[in-house]
Amino acid sequence: MTEIYPRYSVEEAQSAVLERIRVLEAEETPILDALGRVLAEDVYAEYDIPPHSNTAMDGYALRAEDTRGAAAGSPVMLRVVHNLAAGYVSDRAVSQGTAIRIMTGAPLPPGADAVVPFERTEADGDRVRVLEEQPVGANVRAAGEDVHGGDLVLVRGAELGPAEIGMLAALGRPVVRAHRRPRVGILATGDEVAAIDAPLRPGQIRNANSYSNAAQVLRYGGIPVPLGIARDSTEAIRDRLRGGLRENIDLLLTSGGVSVGDFDVVKKVLAEEAEMHFWQVRMRPGKPFAFGRIGDVPLLGLPGNPVSAMVSFELFGRPALHRLMGKRHVPHPTVRAVLLDSLDKRKGFRYFVRVRLERLGRGYAARLTGEQGSGILLSMVRADGLAVIPEEYEHYRAGGTVDVLLLDCNVLAGGNA
Ligand code: AMP
Ligand code: MG
Repeated sequence: MTEIYPRYSVEEAQSAVLERIRVLEAEETPILDALGRVLAEDVYAEYDIPPHSNTAMDGYALRAEDTRGAAAGSPVMLRVVHNLAAGYVSDRAVSQGTAIRIMTGAPLPPGADAVVPFERTEADGDRVRVLEEQPVGANVRAAGEDVHGGDLVLVRGAELGPAEIGMLAALGRPVVRAHRRPRVGILATGDEVAAIDAPLRPGQIRNANSYSNAAQVLRYGGIPVPLGIARDSTEAIRDRLRGGLRENIDLLLTSGGVSVGDFDVVKKVLAEEAEMHFWQVRMRPGKPFAFGRIGDVPLLGLPGNPVSAMVSFELFGRPALHRLMGKRHVPHPTVRAVLLDSLDKRKGFRYFVRVRLERLGRGYAARLTGEQGSGILLSMVRADGLAVIPEEYEHYRAGGTVDVLLLDCNVLAGGNA
């Protein structure tokens, strides 16, 4: 079989994709919708957090000086002049020989400089015995100890996770500027590809790719825009592509029709309608992966085989989405693992094999999840990650250590990632 050796390595293909993708504009966004998105403004604190010094414990606010020498055998007796809940400010001050009963979070009353927790006291009517000396500042949270008014708290470019969103709420910011989510058109192709709920005629298969790719888009923060299934005809594919471009999309995914089959008209139409940069990458699965631009929209021509479509998306679609959203290009989360199976491969191609991870000592072991054919979706279902077998191998012997790209980081909670 004569076959053109693909010019692009995985890294070259990734760079070529990223070079041609621009960061999307920012928009005003309710903070919860900004989860996983990138902040497009610097956020300053307008006030101290906490805004007032307050107690970290339930106990008695007092003057540290008054507790000098206090111990279980020689308690200090103070008069309790008030009872203060969180959310209220005391109109009474603590003076020599007195204390105010106080609940966690309540502002420290004037005159007090320490709090003794209930556990170190014995109540006695309107008085309290303090059983332990307290230094100045004991159990007191100072105003501004978390954030000072005027501080730069979150910088533009930061990715907004749950902690950042909590901080924005604490700062009284219901809305922030964040880069918007990319709208990603998803077009399946193939005369054999049937919609999920259409009757399955002889010779047909279900459209798996539009769903796995849409799920990946969602997982990485984009908005999938389904464009249906195009029949393998020039007109059908051209119509769907043009229709897709009218949907205000920022990225277009097609699947199928980009390998070397007789009816791969997608290739022909893309060559006419789009400006294509490359058609193949030296990897497996996922060798037939095309990249170009149609109109203003970057286009990822994913392979048709369901596993290849997913693996190509992980390697090229994920970084493309990240770039659109303004994120830095960070390598796929990866762990090192001992691969416990051997395999044969084609030299010069990087392989991404589906593996399940298990703990091995302080690290991980990886085992193949089954048949590695690019149509075997079940071995993808069973996989925790993709083990990377470098180009130079022709035969990989069990027992070596490889990188494993994690497909779902949740399975490794507590791991060495
Ligand atoms: P192609 O590159 O178009 O020849 O497709 C390669 C293989 O992937 C063929 O076996 C197709 O039937 C299959 N395939 C293509 N598109 C899809 C799809 N959307 N869902 C599931 N399988 C597909
Ligand atoms: Mg096809």
